[in-house]
Amino acid sequence: MAKGKIIINEKWCKGCEICVELCPTDAIEMRDFKVAIKDEDKCIACMQCELRCPDFAIEIEKIG
Ligand code: SF4
Ligand code: SF4
Repeated sequence: MAKGKIIINEKWCKGCEICVELCPTDAIEMRDFKVAIKDEDKCIACMQCELRCPDFAIEIEKIG
């Protein structure tokens, strides 16, 4: 069950992959040089992707 809703602003994503490398559960992936949701159910809302993205291109909305 997803703990976070993953919101991506593709326009701001420069494809650096920092978020994908930091995600502990493999919930996100790179697709065509942009971050994309791989399996939202795996998101534990650890916030690493949102906190470490240099471009504010990924946001997590905590669920529950
Ligand atoms: S860290 Fe930000 S800019 Fe880099 S791939 Fe992830 S969303 Fe895109
Ligand atoms: S909040 Fe954590 S688990 Fe969810 S996508 Fe971001 S890094 Fe992965």
